[in-house]
Parts: sequence; structure tokens; C-alpha cells
Amino acid sequence: MSSVKETVLEINLAHLTHNYNYLRSKLKPEVKLLAVVKAAGYGSDAVVMAKHLERIGADYFAVAYVSEGIALREAGITTPILVLHPQPINFSSLIDYRLEPSLYSPRILREFIKVAVTKKQKGYPAHIKFNTGLNRIGFWENDVDYIMDHLNKTDSVKIQSLFSHLAASEDHNEKEFTLNQINSFKKTASEMIAKLGYTPMLHQSNTSGILNYPEAHFDMVRTGIGLYGYGNEVIYDKELKPVASLKSIISQIHMLEPGETLGYNRAFKADGYTKTATIPIGHADGIGRQYGNKNSFVTIHGKKAYIIGNVCMDMIMIDITDIDCKEGDEVIIFDNTSSAAIIAEGAGTISYELLTAISPRVKRVIIDNN
Ligand SMILES: *Cc1c(COP(=O)(O)O)cnc(C)c1O
Repeated sequence: MSSVKETVLEINLAHLTHNYNYLRSKLKPEVKLLAVVKAAGYGSDAVVMAKHLERIGADYFAVAYVSEGIALREAGITTPILVLHPQPINFSSLIDYRLEPSLYSPRILREFIKVAVTKKQKGYPAHIKFNTGLNRIGFWENDVDYIMDHLNKTDSVKIQSLFSHLAASEDHNEKEFTLNQINSFKKTASEMIAKLGYTPMLHQSNTSGILNYPEAHFDMVRTGIGLYGYGNEVIYDKELKPVASLKSIISQIHMLEPGETLGYNRAFKADGYTKTATIPIGHADGIGRQYGNKNSFVTIHGKKAYIIGNVCMDMIMIDITDIDCKEGDEVIIFDNTSSAAIIAEGAGTISYELLTAISPRVKRVIIDNN
């Protein structure tokens, strides 16, 4: 049992290994695993995640933006890195760092070929993204001829994979929609393969796709490795352990008399005698104002303490009237017993938003029991 001295985000590498092995156990041995480490590894630390995952055998990485891929390369990551959402202004440095672009629209395809030709590339690895219903980014099924026309005119680019993304693989009520996405991807992929004359990898599944749609594993899956833990009961598998835990301490305790108020704009008013604690974490650390005014809670010695009043930039205040605790005691914002998903739910959001909002000001502490 660790006890922290300030606000920290603990990153547990044994949990990361556990989740990796658990998700691998759901795949046929020949299926590759791409670890998505975008957004600072879902708010943790992308370099720490990627180095550990590279060591234990991840086949591929993905990030959202070129800058994130460059940071991984500069840290010494040599595994292939797919950039999911690049922009043409960064194509030249993308090539310099041997990052692999997702080509997701006619404009992006044309611009990438142009840069690859200028930089005298031969067979530069790139990936074609198809839209099968998420309607976010990706080529449409009827773009195949357009794509082939452009690829046939150059040897600067070689397609490593064809992929698509599921919109609702965590939702069992959307099974029919998801199966349609899978079928549509299969159809478009076989049309592309027939015209390409070689066979790139196919991938479509995210984490909940791995768990719920074995028929969509294809040659590779893309997963955030449950960095957030199991999410909520409906969405994820409780076998997934949260890699990140957010902890802090009680800075000061106050006793409020009935009628006294607390915090900015006097948003909390004590009905009776109220014991409060002030915690060094605020909206500048990623705990937004929507968590305040009893919308969400933290845990002290296993007991719930609601966040009261308005969240400040560097502090929150909590109600500890019924909790036996003292200054310096540990406060859990989320961990493996009080999940990030539940804490986020109180504020009307999801664990991903809570995790990725944790600012660089919060110290990352690596726990490596491997
Ligand atoms: C973020 C992302 C993933 C990973 O999704 P998880 O549900 O976290 O596993 C996979 N593919 C794409 C295209 C993504 O943007």
C-alpha cells in the first residue's frame, strides 16, 4: 500500500502487462496487436507506455498526430507507428521520422503522394482508412477506383494495411449496425486487394471489438490496452486492470458552523456542522468544474467524500464530516477500487475524458514490479 505525499498519477506497469496478456489471450496467435498510445497514452505517459509495450511484444503503435509519433521516435521507439489523423503540413517530417500515415481522404492521398514523390520515396509504407459508418474520417466504399487510379500512377507508396473503425462495438444493442460495418469493410477490402495485386493487413477492431466481435479481428487489432481499466460494467471487461491511479492528500481540514459557506461564489452552504478537507488538485490539473457541487466524489480510507462547492484552479474541497481522517492522509480520486468511469459519470463524462485531461503538472510516478 503506497502512501503519496502530493498529487500523483501512478502508472502501474504490471497492470499494463496483465491487460496486454489478457487481450492477447482473446486473439488467434497470428493476429497482430497494435497499441494505441495517442493523447499521451490516454493521459498517462506515451513514452513509458510505448517502451514497456515494445519490450513485451506490441507489433505496432498508433498515435493521432505526427508530433506524437516524433516524440516516440525521439525516445528511441523503433516499432512501426501508424499516424491515424495526420495533416499535409507534417508529411515531410512524418517521412523523416519513418512514421506511417493513415490516408483517409482523396485530398490526403494526393498530398501524401506528392510529398513522397518530392522526397524520392519508393514503396513508402502507408495505410488506407475506410469509413464504414462512423462517418468521421475515411474513404467511402465507392472511392476504390479513385484510390487505385492514384496508386497506379506511382511507386512512391506501398499500402501496408486497409482499415476501418467501429462506431459502437461496446454496445450490444448496436450489434446489427456493427455487423454491417464488418461486412462492408470485408467487401471493400477484398475489392481493394483484387485491384492492388498484393495483400495488405486488414484491421477494424478497437478494445471492445476485440472482446465482442472475434469475427472482426482480421490480421491486427488496435487497442488502448485498457489503460483506463474496465470502464463501466456495460462497456468493458473487469479483467482489465486500470493502469493509472490518481491520488492526492489532505492539505488542511476546516470545521464549518451551520450557515457558513465554502469556496468561490459561496457555492456550498453548510446546513449543519460540517468538516471539510482541502485537496491540492483543481481544474488546472484536469478536475473540471463539472466535478464540483457534489456531482462527484473522492475516496478516503475506503469512504466516499463528495466534492463540495466550486472546483478551484488548484484545489477542491470535500465533505469529510463522517470520515475519520487527518491532514496528510491519502485521498484516492480514482484507482482499481474506485474506477475512473464512475468518477467521470458523476460529471457527465467518460473515463477517457477524465484521464486525458490530467495536466502535465500532475507528477507521473511509474510503479514497475515486473
Ligand atoms: C482511439 C482509437 C482506437 C483505440 O480505441 P480503444 O477503444 O481505446 O481501444 C482504435 N482505432 C482508432 C482509429 C482510434 O482512434
